[in-house]
Amino acid sequence: MKAPTYRPAYRSVEGLVPYQTGKPIEEVARELGLSQVVKLASNESPMGMPEAASRAAAEAATKASRYPDGGCYELKRLLARKHGIPEERIVLGNGSNDILELLAQLLVAEGDETVYAWPAFIVYRLATMAHGGRGIEVPLDAGMGHDLDAMARAITARTRIVFIANPNNPTGTYVTRKRLESFLDHLPHTVVPVLDEAYFEYAIEHEGYPDGVAMAREGRPLAVLRTFSKAYGLAGLRVGYAVMPEGLASLLNRIRQPFNVSSVAQAAAAAALGEAAFVGRAVRLNSTEMERVTKGLEALGLSCVPSAANFILVDLAGRNGEEVFRALLKLGVIVRPMAGYDLPKTIRVTIGLPEENGLFLEAMSTAIKKG
Ligand SMILES: *Cc1c(COP(=O)(O)O)cnc(C)c1O
Repeated sequence: MKAPTYRPAYRSVEGLVPYQTGKPIEEVARELGLSQVVKLASNESPMGMPEAASRAAAEAATKASRYPDGGCYELKRLLARKHGIPEERIVLGNGSNDILELLAQLLVAEGDETVYAWPAFIVYRLATMAHGGRGIEVPLDAGMGHDLDAMARAITARTRIVFIANPNNPTGTYVTRKRLESFLDHLPHTVVPVLDEAYFEYAIEHEGYPDGVAMAREGRPLAVLRTFSKAYGLAGLRVGYAVMPEGLASLLNRIRQPFNVSSVAQAAAAAALGEAAFVGRAVRLNSTEMERVTKGLEALGLSCVPSAANFILVDLAGRNGEEVFRALLKLGVIVRPMAGYDLPKTIRVTIGLPEENGLFLEAMSTAIKKG
């Protein structure tokens, strides 16, 4: 039988490269015959999830023969109370990725543009191109931060969305409230500003870092994304949310899957919201260990981009990131090579537990001596 030809609705899809996820621990252990493998590749919380969240998830799993609550009533109520925002302004997603995708699906038509920094979170590119849009990628400034002036200049009549990851992934840099507000003040009303605050809990302690949800509460027409995948430790359950103007939320709720957040994820996230002390410990551990890892790398003659998140971008001083990645892999440490982000001489490393970071620094010292 002759195979059919598959022609995507948008030619832009043919140019996409599938998203590269961090290598799973089990796969590396199996392939290399290693018994101990440390994964510092996907910015997950090394502390895992709060116990109350795993208990709630286990309990919810016993009732998972039923469909979830499609409106996420309880979780949304808790989020509305936490943020002082009406429930009508909150959209839940199967991870915040889901909401990025929904925003593009809703707002981007063929030939439309989105504006974002490059390198930034690659999902902005994927979501844009999946819907026939053109991603306008504005190079980071010399300090590896967002160049908001250049981004403002990149906006045209065709721009539908501007994505700002704050802090940015893979650099960990952030834009200050002052600079963000002046950028937003000049943004045309036809553009939806999307502020991706996946690392909010880590970043909020940093000087001048803006709280996007507070800005939205004060009336800025922003879509602000938060997630349970990072500091809350629920990455595998897939749950994130966004705060946005009610009119936009109402449109997204029409196109999302009716059951886009599983009952297990809803229950765990609701329980995790009550665990502020756990999140506080995770953030403190991160900041102590960030300092230690940075100093350790500097002692090896490498430099890092100052990060407000739970990962750092390491400048390998001319070495090839893919080679260092593979050398580390053989020593049982999984990090993320960055060639896909046009940063071939860097790696991105998630801050882990103290012993994991110790193993990483040791492996790093071996890996770069070889290279
Ligand atoms: C990790 C990350 C997310 C989170 O994605 P989820 O789908 O919520 O797991 C979103 N944005 C950025 C920039 C990230 O790094």
